[in-house]
Amino acid sequence: MRGTRLVAVLTLPLVAACGGSTTTVTEPPAPRSATTAEITPTDLRQRISVFADDSMQGRRTGTPGNAKGNAYIVSELGRLGLKPAGDGGSYLQKVPLSSYAPDSSRATLKVGSGELALWTDYHPYQAEFAVPARPIGGSSLVYIGGPADSAAVPPREALRGKVVVYHSGATGNNLGAPDVSPEGRLGLISGIMVTGVDTLIATYAQVFRTPRVVVKQNQAIPPGVTQPRLIILPSASVPKLFAKPLDQLRPGDTGPALEGEVSFDERDLGASNVVAVLEGADPALRREYVALGAHNDAIGIVPAVDHDSLRAYNTVMRPRGANDAPGDPDAGQAARIRAMVDSMRKLRPARLDSIVNGADDDGSGSMALLEIAEAAAKSGQRPKRSLLFVWHTGEESGLQGSRWFTENPTVPRDSIVAQINVDMMGRGGPRDEATRDPGYLQVIGSRRLSTELGDLAEAVNREGSHGFTFDYSYDADGHPDNFYCRSDHYMYARHGIPIAFFSTGGHRDYHQVTDEIEYLDFDKYARATTFVGAVARGVADLDHRPVVDKPKPDPEAPCQQ
Ligand SMILES: [Zn+2]
Repeated sequence: MRGTRLVAVLTLPLVAACGGSTTTVTEPPAPRSATTAEITPTDLRQRISVFADDSMQGRRTGTPGNAKGNAYIVSELGRLGLKPAGDGGSYLQKVPLSSYAPDSSRATLKVGSGELALWTDYHPYQAEFAVPARPIGGSSLVYIGGPADSAAVPPREALRGKVVVYHSGATGNNLGAPDVSPEGRLGLISGIMVTGVDTLIATYAQVFRTPRVVVKQNQAIPPGVTQPRLIILPSASVPKLFAKPLDQLRPGDTGPALEGEVSFDERDLGASNVVAVLEGADPALRREYVALGAHNDAIGIVPAVDHDSLRAYNTVMRPRGANDAPGDPDAGQAARIRAMVDSMRKLRPARLDSIVNGADDDGSGSMALLEIAEAAAKSGQRPKRSLLFVWHTGEESGLQGSRWFTENPTVPRDSIVAQINVDMMGRGGPRDEATRDPGYLQVIGSRRLSTELGDLAEAVNREGSHGFTFDYSYDADGHPDNFYCRSDHYMYARHGIPIAFFSTGGHRDYHQVTDEIEYLDFDKYARATTFVGAVARGVADLDHRPVVDKPKPDPEAPCQQ
């Protein structure tokens, strides 16, 4: 059973997530006036002022703020007269996302006279929730050493119902847990505690605490199939189990029975994609679709920080925001940060901020799609093929909305001739990176399945005088950022649908509370939106579907560009 096997090769997801907040959601500001048919900076500002307002609480998947953001999109789609293409004649497609969090009300484990406190003395982790985890209450402890001690591991039967403690010593994002598959030497254990991974714990402590959001698949798990409970254990907790430190333990050493249990509470998030169709004008071709995608979710609420101090720090230390690791500034850097904060203090007092508004990521893409829909709906000249607009949820928690949509498409999947994805469309100019020209645009994946699609994007840029300079560098094979695999377009490409991903690029406010409306470049944003709309129309009006001249990927294979 894959679930169990997963433990052995467990690699923790590189997803930065943040704790939720219970602050109440207030009403978003009412739109001042109706938007126009044209794609304009004013319209985009008006839309984003609603969609990325603090009242949306950072639109984390499945939260009231995310639902409110979707409600704004739905109300606009109704106003523009697009055809609902979600579930049951609505614009919403439910994505069965559930969140799992340890039941903290009864998470204290006891060992002899000692207690293990959740998140301090131990971190429960479960990669897969479809397979039940075995109970550990009453199980006694056995130390089995590390990778070099496999010969000294007690026999399979002797470990039945035990909780084993394994000294991994792995670094990076791989836990380095041993094979616990049912047929293996550790196949009968009730649980495993992996220790000697303090660096990993330091990096992922916040991830462990964050409720895991997973798409609830209707997987038929055969009766009796279970997995061992996995616990990640700081080295400092070992003496609480064995009354001696880790480096004095020998394989086979035993400890008293555990008291208490670890369990995860499940909560249905009620998350939704928003899906709409602008029907094409050509009676035959309108049954084919050009899909346009953006993600309606953002990061949500994070521990409050001073907005300007964070921005000054990131300007110097993390010019690509969450894509850069934090670090300690040296004297020169600290002075620069100090100077920036001082100059801000002259303008305004400190302002605490805990909402990752996601104005650029991906409020900009989501509102660009609405403007493109409005322009096409009011243009009086509809494209030949239909335009399929999908606002995916769950992108930040693992491309979950787009995976669900492409596995449960509301139009025949093979009638989707191409997908155009936009994520972070409102920045990336000289204000963000001095070397960049105002026409900077990142293009990823546009020739990875169809050379013709990539050529078409360039022709539209040239012939329409959109004036963009395409940066293909992030599309290079092996590029460390791996962006081809990191946004919703890949869920279409994995099924052989040619995609083109457009972004104005990264910046210091990526996944930060500082990703605010005030830093968007609305002129560029409107030009980029107009360009993307023109590409979509270019594909929709072709007399043939874009030719797929490159090999289609294995949809189940892990993605590595
Ligand atoms: Zn994004």
